[in-house]
Amino acid sequence: MTLSWTLLGSDGAARLGLLRTAHGEVETPVFMPVGTAGTVKAMTADSVRATGSRLILGNTYHLMLRPGADRVEQLGGLHRMMDWPGPILTDSGGFQVMSLAALRTLDEGGVTFRSHLDGSAHRLTPEGSIRIQHKLDATITMAFDECTAFPATEAEAEASMALSMRWAARCREAFAPRPGYGLFGINQGGVFAGLRARSAEALAAIGFDGYAIGGLAVGEGQPAMLAVLDQVAPLLPLDKPRYLMGVGTPDDILCSVARGVDMFDCVIPTRAGRTARAYTRAGVLNLRNARFAGQDRPLDEACRCPLCARHSRAYLRHLFR
Ligand SMILES: [Zn+2]
Repeated sequence: MTLSWTLLGSDGAARLGLLRTAHGEVETPVFMPVGTAGTVKAMTADSVRATGSRLILGNTYHLMLRPGADRVEQLGGLHRMMDWPGPILTDSGGFQVMSLAALRTLDEGGVTFRSHLDGSAHRLTPEGSIRIQHKLDATITMAFDECTAFPATEAEAEASMALSMRWAARCREAFAPRPGYGLFGINQGGVFAGLRARSAEALAAIGFDGYAIGGLAVGEGQPAMLAVLDQVAPLLPLDKPRYLMGVGTPDDILCSVARGVDMFDCVIPTRAGRTARAYTRAGVLNLRNARFAGQDRPLDEACRCPLCARHSRAYLRHLFR
């Protein structure tokens, strides 16, 4: 028995669900803060938990380079190493290899590249990525795919999607099922409806514990992204969780939940938090702005987070200054 997801209710296309894993239960829709290299930057595990976050993301590419998958395994896995007993999803490394690594060469077997840290040579394959995520002790393992470049022609997007589907089958084969752990496949196909439909069909035929939608939020803009969701979400298995990778702003998330997406991850909240930008119900605030210097009130009056409960805008501005 791998991890399970139960549909508890729906409103239009929007879904309320419960994900049960080896590391605890998580209600969906859920947002996953990004803990790239074994930490959600500038936060302790307790402070991440205090935000209400229950599921976080780790990064195969970063962790395989530093401190190394074997080292993480020796330290008891990612949960133990970073003091996060709850569920962790790890991405496969495919996206970061294409966006960060140097001298990439892609072939049918996988990707050979040089580390952006020290230039050392590495190779990631579908089987290798699954093996690394196993060593990291990922609750949710992501299939290794090629994130299709944007913009891409339909022929380029088709070749890339077809490669990712062949890799998805190899990932399924390589994955060792354990109770409460799961493997997600990733839908690709760029902005082309026919390709997205073929990808959805191919993934369902292989069979995964959840289905991600990849290759979006890469510059196509919100209307194009939502058009893909309108088309793809109804094609994904009803009884499995759906994860929109790398999204997004509060507005992106609400629009996607309304279209039947259950899981999200994005660096926006943590990056914004380190650069004095705050998302509130009244819009985005830049806390370096002088107008906050004397404001003895919370960022967002309606928010119950520890920050809003305890600290004023004026104090936060002072800290950033
Ligand atoms: Zn708050």
